[in-house]
Amino acid sequence: MKRLTVIGGGPGGYTAAFAAARAGMEVTLVEAARLGGTCLNAGCIPTKTLKASAEALETALRLAEFGITCEGTPRVDPAAVLARKEKVVDILRGGLEKTCARLKVRLCTGHGRVLDARHVEVGMADGSVEVVENDALILATGSRVAELPGLAFDHTHILSSDDALQLDRVPRRLVIVGGGVIGCEMAFIYRAFGAQVTVVEGQNRLLPMPSMDADVSTLLQREMKKRRIACELGRTLRDVRVEEGVVRATLTASPFVDKPTPAQQKEVPVEADMVLVTVGRCPATEGLGLAEAGIATDRRGWVVVDDALKTSLPGVYAIGDLLGPSRVMLAHVAAMEGLCVVESLCGKPRAMRYDAVPSGVFTSPEVGSVGLSEQQAREQGLDVRCVTFQMRELGKAQAMGELPGFFKLVAATDSGRLLGAHIAGAHASDLVAEAALAVANGLTLEQVAHTIHAHPTLAEGLYEAALLAQEG
Ligand code: FAD
Repeated sequence: MKRLTVIGGGPGGYTAAFAAARAGMEVTLVEAARLGGTCLNAGCIPTKTLKASAEALETALRLAEFGITCEGTPRVDPAAVLARKEKVVDILRGGLEKTCARLKVRLCTGHGRVLDARHVEVGMADGSVEVVENDALILATGSRVAELPGLAFDHTHILSSDDALQLDRVPRRLVIVGGGVIGCEMAFIYRAFGAQVTVVEGQNRLLPMPSMDADVSTLLQREMKKRRIACELGRTLRDVRVEEGVVRATLTASPFVDKPTPAQQKEVPVEADMVLVTVGRCPATEGLGLAEAGIATDRRGWVVVDDALKTSLPGVYAIGDLLGPSRVMLAHVAAMEGLCVVESLCGKPRAMRYDAVPSGVFTSPEVGSVGLSEQQAREQGLDVRCVTFQMRELGKAQAMGELPGFFKLVAATDSGRLLGAHIAGAHASDLVAEAALAVANGLTLEQVAHTIHAHPTLAEGLYEAALLAQEG
């Protein structure tokens, strides 16, 4: 029986630990803080729990549209929202603890440090130290928030995403630095809760990642405008300071934009009760002993691995956020990397694929995306046809009163193979799963169009888009 140690109990680490235990290995899972990692404690689940509260409030404010009358005005109770979030997180963490016990994964609560490929030292909270011996080691210590120069967190007025998930009051004026996934999600949540929100994004569009189709960015910008969320693109904040409990700064042109417009160059003073910084993560490797053990990192400190997720030290693997943005920093990617490593330890190696990773952006409306964006496909010189089917054309969307959004497909012109799908609209993060199956398995538009989709459902949008694309 192989002995496996996993350092880090986030989605990468616990998925690997559970899979290894199921495969008959003797597993020790070392976690310094709370089982579930960033995802469960300060990432995916807390944000989605707050989003559910924000959506409930938005629906309550629209009840008349559905023919429902209700006395009084619904409003947010921040303490109750936080309590619900904690409850959800606790339930899920309890589930993980039970799975550890059921699969006989030894949970070691302490800080792990690599001594060599066969030994990990665990520093316990009570000051005691234990050395765990293993045949294989997986590093899954993830990432943590990083401070930007000139925007040091004081956790009261200048906040990290961790802080924004703990707020027991809604700021009147909130400026969010970063229009990426976390910034956009927080903007919709806090706007629904009643804050005046401004998003400051250094690039010329929201969600400025290459894999995110530009049409999605445009739609989100329009939805922000509808909700009176101010959107400052190609802009940045300078001279940020806190004076008498108010954050003051100057809005100015971003260095990331080559030719800023006169409007972008205009310097404008801004005031806010809180500034939330959602850009910047760094590897969580303090005290992990990487350099001493001879485990290579890149110049930013992210762990370097080969295609089999092996580090430079034989017998030691690394997965998840710890690999940095050159891979994909998402919970389900960390988990799948963990499974690939365990399968390889069991003698059935499977290469990790990054070409069909679905991603969800939990804004209002949501976004679900997989594969190539139209821009990426064209930059790669691929001959593609793109088609867009509007959400509002679906019977289910009309019945639900969820009209904004679309299904955009990117397919190879000659073979008809689906290369990418970009869905915006209600439940887009769930709807993208079917597109991910199609992209991952090289399915064609015809195969999608020949698959019967239940009526009336939002999932019909993918089928309708595939039909439309076939019409040319
Ligand atoms: P982590 O989840 O970071 O877990 C690492 C664990 O290692 C931590 O528990 C840490 O305490 C522990 N650790 C660190 N050092 C040591 C040590 N030396 N010894 C012992 N333990 C150690 N991803 C999605 O897919 N969907 C989303 O909706 C989503 N939303 C997000 C929202 C926010 C606000 C943030 C910040 C992130 C979000 N993410 C989302 C990203 C997701 O949280 C990460 O990609 C995922 O958690 C990475 O998993 P991991 O296992 O690599 O690391």
